[in-house]
Order: sequence, then structure tokens, then C-alpha cells
Amino acid sequence: MSKALLIIDMLNDFVYGSLKLPAAKDIVPNIKRLIDAFRSQKMPVIYVNDNHVRDVDLELKLWGQHAITGTWGSKVIEELKPQGHDFIVSKRRYSGFFATDLDLLLRELSVKSLVLTGVATDICVLHTAADAFFRGYEIIVVSDATASLTHDRHERALNYMKEVYGAKILSTAEIENILLKPQP
Ligand code: ZN
Repeated sequence: MSKALLIIDMLNDFVYGSLKLPAAKDIVPNIKRLIDAFRSQKMPVIYVNDNHVRDVDLELKLWGQHAITGTWGSKVIEELKPQGHDFIVSKRRYSGFFATDLDLLLRELSVKSLVLTGVATDICVLHTAADAFFRGYEIIVVSDATASLTHDRHERALNYMKEVYGAKILSTAEIENILLKPQP
């Protein structure tokens, strides 16, 4: 089944800046491994990035200004910088599907299965998984390439996605095995 790697909100503001999640930097090496695996197989790597309109987007009332269009905080962290063949989808809500062209892009790429990584497991990853489920995609969440504010919130979100959206919860090493093992 044709897969795409989704990297959700690995932006300066969430890793180092105004809405920093302490665990976010710990998952960077695993996401890098997955990016390398997908690129080596010429499979799609899609960055799904918060990109807010200053003082306008509803979410900013809850969280304060973050990932504002054009700022350092809205850029993907240097360690995971997008390259030439990668795709970038900008979003203004938690879900990568809401009012974006992610679904169109995935259909044009004939992708049926999404490998979700990034932050936060219980907010943007979870809402993206919900919308992926409603649209009929297979969902894989990488347990050691996603992170939340606390480990408990991370674990609860993984369990929720497994129970409610039928998500498969796999490790980085398990995804590498699936992608890189010789085809029969
Ligand atoms: Zn946001």
C-alpha cells in the first residue's frame, strides 16, 4: 500500500521557541531516520506546518502567538529541513486536512497509508489522524517519533488513536524494516 511520511509541526516555535515541548527535540533523530528511509525509496515526504495569520487565527487566543507566517518560529527546524522533492502543506488549525490541499495531494500521489510523526501527539497529530480516518486512509503513528507535553498525554493519545481510528502504533525501527527490507 502506497505510503507517505507526514512530519507535523516540527517547527522552531514547538521545538525551541514560544511553545516549546521538552520532548520534541528527543524525537528529531528518529524523524530524520524516517525521512532518509522514505527519500531513499522515493516515497513522499510531506511536511504539515502550522502557519498562522497574526492576531487573526482562532487558535492563537488559546495558545498565544506562535508559528506566525514569515517568522523564524514558523520554519521547519534546521535538522529536518525540507529538500527539493519534499512537499509542504500549510495549515491554520490542528488538523492537516482542514482547509488545506493535503487530501488532494495524497490522492494525486496515490497514497493510501499515512505514517504520522511530529508534535503534539494529542493535538495536531490526533486531529490529523481523525480527519485521515474520516477520509479512509490507513493510519500508522510512530510511537518514538511523536511527542507531547507529557509522557502521559502522549500515551493516552496513542491509545485513543489505536482504539478509535484503528491506527497501527509502530516504532521507527519497525517502519524502517517495512520500507527497507528486500521485496520478495
Ligand atoms: Zn497552531
